[in-house]
Amino acid sequence: MGNASAEKRYTPLVILALVGALVATLGFWARDRAAENQSSNHAAVGATGEHYQWKMITTWPKNFPGLGFAAENFSRAVEEMSNGRLTVHVYGAGEIVPALEVFDAVSQGVVDAGHGAAYYWKGKVPASVFFTSVPFGLNAQEMNGWLHYGGGLELWQEAYAPYNLVPMAGGSTGVQMAGWFNREINSIEDLKGLKMRIPGLAGEVFAAAGGTAVTIAGGELYTSMQTGVIDALEWVGPYNDKSLGFHEVAKYYYYPGWHEPGSILEFIVNKDSLEALPTDLQAIVKYASRAISQDMLDEYTARNNAALESLIEEGVKLRRLPDDVLLALWQGSQVVMQKLVASDPMAAKVYESYRKFYKGARNYHHISEQAYINSRDKALGDGDY
Ligand code: CA
Repeated sequence: MGNASAEKRYTPLVILALVGALVATLGFWARDRAAENQSSNHAAVGATGEHYQWKMITTWPKNFPGLGFAAENFSRAVEEMSNGRLTVHVYGAGEIVPALEVFDAVSQGVVDAGHGAAYYWKGKVPASVFFTSVPFGLNAQEMNGWLHYGGGLELWQEAYAPYNLVPMAGGSTGVQMAGWFNREINSIEDLKGLKMRIPGLAGEVFAAAGGTAVTIAGGELYTSMQTGVIDALEWVGPYNDKSLGFHEVAKYYYYPGWHEPGSILEFIVNKDSLEALPTDLQAIVKYASRAISQDMLDEYTARNNAALESLIEEGVKLRRLPDDVLLALWQGSQVVMQKLVASDPMAAKVYESYRKFYKGARNYHHISEQAYINSRDKALGDGDY
C-alpha cells in the first residue's frame, strides 16, 4: 500500500518530467528547423542574390590597347566570378569626367571605381608616385613583393584613406622603354629644351636636366607628337606603344626605362561603394584586381619582343641611353627624391618602407635574378636555347 500511495504521489511528477523532456526536445527540433530554414534562405540569397551595378571610369579611352584593357578584363572577371551579382560598367576618359579627374570623381562618389595610375595624382597625394613607379626604383617582381608582402599596399591604403578611396594594384607593365624621341640623345645636353610627356617624379628629374616635362593623357599622345606639341614621349613598351602607332610620329626609340622600371597601375574604389557589397563580393573585387594586375604583366611578357622586332622592321631606330646620361638622371633622381621626402610626411613614411625593401630586394637579386641572367648570357652568348 505504502508503495502504491508513493506511486500515486510521484506519478504527476513523472508525467511532468516526461512533458518537460518532450517540450525541450520539440524546442531543440524547432530551433534546428529554424536554423535550417535560415541557412537555406542564405543559400537562396547567394544563388540569386541582390544585384549590384558599379560604374568604373578610366584615365584612357574605352578599349584603349594594352593597359587600357585592364578595366574591361576586371569587369568581365568580376561578373563571371559573382555569377552576375556584381556588374561593372566601364566608361572611358571623357565619357563621365576627363582622364585626369578620375581620382576626384571616385573620391566624391560620382562613380564607384576608377582605373589609372597613382602617379597622376602626385599634386594631391605626393606619396602616390611610389605606388606606380619611381626612377631607378623596384622592378615589377619587386613591386609586387613590396605591395603585397612588404607593407606597400597598407601604406597606399593609408595615403588614400582621407579621400574615401581604397586602392588596389590594377596592372603591371614590367620595365618600360625610355621613350620615343624626334632626335638622338647622345649626351645630357641633348635633353635641354626638349619637351617631353613624362609623368611622375621622372618628369621632375627630366625638368631638372633642362627639359620640359608635361603630363598628357594617353589618348592625346599621338596627336601631340604628330603636331609637334611635344618632342618626345614615354608610354609603356613595344607591345603597347606599337598598338598606339607612336612609330608613325617618332623615329628614335630609347631604352632602358630608368624612369619606370616596374610600373603598377591602380584600381581605386569608393570606400562606401565597396562596403555596401556583401563580404563575398568584396573579396571578389579584391582577388579580381590581383589577378588582372598579374595578367597584364603576363601579356606584356609574352608580346613585347615580337612587337619590338616588328617595329625595327618598320624602320624604328632602337637606341640605348648613354651611360653618362643615365648617371646624370640617377643623380637628378636623388635630388628630386630628397626634395619630395622633405616636403611631405606621408611621402617620407612610404619612402622609408620602400627604401628598406629595395635594399633587401636588390641584395637578393644580385645572387638570384641578376646572377642567373648574367650567367645565362655568358653561357649562351648569341646562341639559341
Ligand atoms: Ca610610362
